[in-house]
Amino acid sequence: VSEQRAEIKSEKYDVMVIGAGAAGMAAALKLAEAGKQVVLIDRDNEYGGVLNQCIHNGFGLHYFKRELTGPEFAERMSAKVHSSSMRSYVNMSITDLIHSTDGSGSVEAYGISEETGLIHFYCKALVLALGCRERNRGNIAIPGSRPAGVFTAGLAQRLVNLEGLMPGKEVVIVGSGDIGLIMARRMTLVGARVKAVIEIMPYPSGLTRNVVQCLKDYGIPLYLSHSVTKIYGKNRIEAVDVSPLEDGIIREDKKFTIDCDTLLLSVGLVPEQELAKQLNLDIDTVTGGPYVDDLYMSSLPGVFACGNALHVHDLVDWAASEGESCAIGVIDFLNGKLSKRTSRFDSGKNVRYVVPKHTQEGKETLLSLRSLVVANDVVLKVKQKDEVIFSKKLKHIQPSEMIQFKLIPAKGAMEVHLETAD
Ligand SMILES: Cc1cc2nc3c(=O)[nH]c(=O)nc-3n(C[C@H](O)[C@H](O)[C@H](O)COP(=O)(O)OP(=O)(O)OC[C@H]3O[C@@H](n4cnc5c(N)ncnc54)[C@H](O)[C@@H]3O)c2cc1C
Repeated sequence: VSEQRAEIKSEKYDVMVIGAGAAGMAAALKLAEAGKQVVLIDRDNEYGGVLNQCIHNGFGLHYFKRELTGPEFAERMSAKVHSSSMRSYVNMSITDLIHSTDGSGSVEAYGISEETGLIHFYCKALVLALGCRERNRGNIAIPGSRPAGVFTAGLAQRLVNLEGLMPGKEVVIVGSGDIGLIMARRMTLVGARVKAVIEIMPYPSGLTRNVVQCLKDYGIPLYLSHSVTKIYGKNRIEAVDVSPLEDGIIREDKKFTIDCDTLLLSVGLVPEQELAKQLNLDIDTVTGGPYVDDLYMSSLPGVFACGNALHVHDLVDWAASEGESCAIGVIDFLNGKLSKRTSRFDSGKNVRYVVPKHTQEGKETLLSLRSLVVANDVVLKVKQKDEVIFSKKLKHIQPSEMIQFKLIPAKGAMEVHLETAD
């Protein structure tokens, strides 16, 4: 590549933001407002990321203080992008990233699109706002044949809502997270018969309002503590076996079979990691995203992450706000202010993860976390050894809902706990 560089167009910016979903657009807008030279890049043909395929409402209550559909949310942000000073490219993939070794934090990137060909970018800081990927059949290892008709729920959502294609007519959905629930309703509304939603946990993974509005209102059965244990079909899927779990053990002796031509998998999301891996960022094995500090800066100076590329968010509003906070971190970095990283947060009882991992003592920090349990009347406690330095009562917690709170950290390691009544 270096031999060809003389012929390649080269562009210089203060900051490159990769990913023009809610998080990336919010970060880029804040940076442009602060007078930074920004380039915003997305491989899709429009701005908005996953919002464009989420044509249902329920977005924007916190960020825009009104209820919007996904495309409406995207449209409001992309209108600001168009009227801002930033340079932006769609239909462009960033394929290679090189971090400088001189400690300045600068990054070189190669982006390619049909319209522009290859462009070499040089920027003083980089924001990864790449969104997430869906876990698929390989991740949950469902035994059986490998016929057509097995889709991730987000792919099916894209096919139905953006491409006008019908994935199938007799549908079983694995997983009761919000995407699975929303697709149960969507498939019903476009004329399919959703025969069941199968959930391995003893409780639904999605919001209660979605269980009511997407399943109960349409008479779709939800099997809790059940798992799909076999897929049948040669060319196209024909049926699945469903087995109950008792005391954590799959009871295949109690299995039953559901005929179907489509299986939708809604079995979790993981941050998009490919570019983070290329840069060798330290990755949190629990969130799947890079470890960051209170500036949202990763283990490499000048490289930042936000939105679903950092940890999977339940609401777009939080992804967008995080993009803005990340932009403030980038501005601090460009102004020579670095986090002192004197404080660290670890997960304690009932806590799956805490973001950010590192911060500085005495500086108010917003922490995001996920619980491991469903419970009412919980006390969130931040402890340093045995001393409680922060506590807050929470009415209800569940793994699908992100918890956020602000605190002024102490020096050293702290643990965040969610203490239940039992
Ligand atoms: C299917 C689904 C349904 C949801 N439903 C709701 C809901 O009802 N209400 C709600 O509030 N929230 C909902 N959410 C959550 C919310 O929409 C998301 O958390 C939020 O939109 C994520 O924003 P993001 O910017 O982090 O990522 P994304 O929107 O995924 O944007 C990431 C962007 O990065 C681009 N990209 C990735 N790699 C590259 C590369 N190498 N080069 C160039 N570009 C790249 C992608 O094309 C994409 O546009 C839903 C999420 C999903 C996945």
